[in-house]
Amino acid sequence: MSRFYLTTAIDYANGEPHFGHALEKIGADAVARYRRLRGDDVHFLIGMDEHGQKVAQAAQERGIPPQQLVDQLADSFRAVWRRLDISYDQFIRTTDPAHEVGVRALIERIFARRPDDFYERAYEGWYCVGCETFKRDNEIVDGKCVLHPTRTLNWTAERNWFFRLSGYAPFLQRLLRDRPVFLQPESRRNEILGLLEQGLEDIAVSRARLAWGIPFPRPTSDGEQQATWVWFDALPNYLTATGYPAAGFESRWPAQLHIIGKDITRHHCVVWPAMLEAAGLPLPERVWAHGFISLGGERFSKSAGVRLDLGTAIDRYGSDAFRYFLLREIPFDGDGDFSMERFDERYVSELADAFGNLASRVLAMLERYRGGAVPASGEATPLDRAGEATMGRYQETMDALLLHRGAAAAWDLVSEANAFVERQAPWALAKSGDAAALDATLAALARCLARLAVLTGPFVPQAAAALWTALGLSGDPASAQAWTVATAPTLASVATHRIPPLFPKNDPEAK
Ligand SMILES: [Zn+2]
Repeated sequence: MSRFYLTTAIDYANGEPHFGHALEKIGADAVARYRRLRGDDVHFLIGMDEHGQKVAQAAQERGIPPQQLVDQLADSFRAVWRRLDISYDQFIRTTDPAHEVGVRALIERIFARRPDDFYERAYEGWYCVGCETFKRDNEIVDGKCVLHPTRTLNWTAERNWFFRLSGYAPFLQRLLRDRPVFLQPESRRNEILGLLEQGLEDIAVSRARLAWGIPFPRPTSDGEQQATWVWFDALPNYLTATGYPAAGFESRWPAQLHIIGKDITRHHCVVWPAMLEAAGLPLPERVWAHGFISLGGERFSKSAGVRLDLGTAIDRYGSDAFRYFLLREIPFDGDGDFSMERFDERYVSELADAFGNLASRVLAMLERYRGGAVPASGEATPLDRAGEATMGRYQETMDALLLHRGAAAAWDLVSEANAFVERQAPWALAKSGDAAALDATLAALARCLARLAVLTGPFVPQAAAALWTALGLSGDPASAQAWTVATAPTLASVATHRIPPLFPKNDPEAK
């Protein structure tokens, strides 16, 4: 069994969960479910990033202590992940005492191995609380951070601990050239290679006057105890979650895959590998940067009134439908758009009419014509050949993390199966008494549904499990044994039963 340690970005605890968070968690969950099907020993980590000035400010605005704010937000994120069937194994919070121990141990390890990598420097510049970093002149327009035009920049002068990131540019260039899979998709890798060509600046990794953070392990020379820069606190969560520095952390580390948003590739593909290299620890195998989601063609923005409540969108048709729509509509290697019109369209045509209806029809015909027993016909039909071809395409696209294409592969098989029903017209075969042809048709359709109950699982886990059970299959539809069934389905004489529509066509407005 291969280990598959999968992580998402930890979510910043200064606001409620939104569409961007949901896209990332649903995508990572589909990957986790797919890897379990392939027999991997999956460990799926998600969590919350709870320190920093931004969190402290948000708590102050609400008039509550920061710990109370992050506790409330952790609860509300976990509630959404439960609602969306996110099958995570571990939920880390950077306020966990064990995380703090791990971060401080990692920094001490760098001090011990590469004492010159840390040095003190007096520094002044424009500081953006939104970014939690000092901004260069070319990142400031009209006196504001280009990424946070609604925030005021603060002129900040302090003496901090610095990390000699500049020394890691050659190492990072080699890493990205020798291991192209380290950062995908390709466009993101080119971005970072371009950045490295311009050279790197050292970064301030401690902050004065920040109470809401992990104390930096060493005071500055004037005796001041500073807090650890939020990214030096947040990035190690992937490592501290394995129990680092306690013995045995190597049984999980390094991660096989970090899934993150494209706006934080610099942190994950420059700062994080440099920290690990400095500490002499193995690097993660692969970083995947997904894109952004817009609403009706516009960037989500509270202030501009471009907003849609996440709960409202999920409630429209339930968790499966929402998961399917995001993963099918938004290319996992790029940007995409959410609109209710498009959501309604795909729900009706692809979920209710195509997939749901196929399942209902086939299960009903098995019952009507064969008393719910799948006929023992092993005759390979064109539908079986289409199913085999789908397995190859599905595997290739899911391995490449092109989840939208994996979903398309599975749903193309749904279309093939519906066309097969129309062509074979089982009702006509029943009428004319062609028992052998009817057996062959129904058996092929049952095999196809079994495949679909497995392949659709990463996208619509509830419907897939219901279909699996309706087909009379035993065992776990989300396991390696289910993948064996999808590869070579044998259902002869299995007892099937009818089920309510997988995707009912109620008018969502009438709810
Ligand atoms: Zn900013």
